Amino acid sequence: MGHVQPGDGVRTRAIHAGEGPDAVTRASAPNLVMSTTFVIDDAEAKFSARCLNDESPYAYTRWGNPTIAQLEKKLANLEGGEAAVAFSTGMAATSALLLHRLKSGDHMIVSDVAYAGVTELLHDTLPGLGVSVSMVDLSDLDELKRAMRPNTKLVYAETPANPILKLTDIKAVAGIARKAGAELAVDSTFATPIATRPIELGADYVLHSLTKYLCGHGDALGGALIGRARRMAGLRQDTAIHLGGSISPFNAWLIMRGIATLPIRMQAHAEGALRVAKFLEKHRLVKKVVYPGLPSHPQHKLAKKQMANMSGMLTFQVKDGLKTAKQLVKQLRIFHYAVSLGHHRSLIFYLPTADMQVNSFRLVPEHLKRFRQWAGDGIFRVSIGLEDPDDLCDDFDQALRGK
Ligand code: PLP
Repeated sequence: MGHVQPGDGVRTRAIHAGEGPDAVTRASAPNLVMSTTFVIDDAEAKFSARCLNDESPYAYTRWGNPTIAQLEKKLANLEGGEAAVAFSTGMAATSALLLHRLKSGDHMIVSDVAYAGVTELLHDTLPGLGVSVSMVDLSDLDELKRAMRPNTKLVYAETPANPILKLTDIKAVAGIARKAGAELAVDSTFATPIATRPIELGADYVLHSLTKYLCGHGDALGGALIGRARRMAGLRQDTAIHLGGSISPFNAWLIMRGIATLPIRMQAHAEGALRVAKFLEKHRLVKKVVYPGLPSHPQHKLAKKQMANMSGMLTFQVKDGLKTAKQLVKQLRIFHYAVSLGHHRSLIFYLPTADMQVNSFRLVPEHLKRFRQWAGDGIFRVSIGLEDPDDLCDDFDQALRGK
């Protein structure tokens, strides 16, 4: 009962993959197992992460837990990967991958624009560990080829990139990385497996902040890495178990419940985002809108090739961003002026370019020039929720006009 087959559609797999009725009680919904420890039958059981394998019984939740294991199986299924490891946050998943795969003397490449937390981690922490980092505009394949070095071990791409929605051609970048003997990790938080499955396009790892679309309701932090089984087993031992960024079973349970509706939510997010993007594009107070689903997006062709769903993230620019931001904070009725994304509630936040440059990205002049061309002096990053799109358009209209 509840078993999925390879040919099942994504809506069936989002609900049933990884789960099944409880063997003892026959409960239909997944059990929430909050226990941190499990009774051990073997008096001489080995107390080391190194002794764990797939057949090991549950012993301690940082090593493995039945609720978390169900989430991991569901994620691996949806991404078309062999295995997944869940973490407490997206940042825990990222730092786990970096600490597992990179050592002193290695070099890695990251998109010039990526989630600010990741960029800051790369700038502030990795150099101290002897790992060098190059920021590269991954939409420029020649720039990537020039940046590859003999010691480049990892290319880290985020597509669509937070916050400016620039895309990376995963297949092309995977080819370049592989040829140079490096691995490719793709942060697919904005896309979700409903839009893009990076492993099928040649990526070695997919990363998610589960906090966003996969949870979908803004009430649980989580992160995940998906990839080949052997790598994931090593990673679980080295990072999840030894560094300890384990997800709470309660959050895993909430996120699994969110994933059950991911395919239909993503459809509604994308429909709403397109409606709002078109509305804003015509609005007299809006200078520019960036949404992968709009023909005006500079990489719309790539978006159509690589994304089966355009997701719910868009950005827009106005003449005086800061003044408008102050106005929107006071005037918006439905949108929450808040960071994060992928929730059922619509969210908006203003990101001034000067701040991004100094605090987060530390862009070199060439990249800053490209960032400004794309984002002007600042952008409103909008996460379109699941409300009625017409109500969201009306909310923007009244708040932008300041009436
Ligand atoms: N990756 C992307 C694209 C993000 O937007 C975020 C957070 O906003 C993260 C990773 C980090 O996720 P978390 O906040 O769950 O640590």
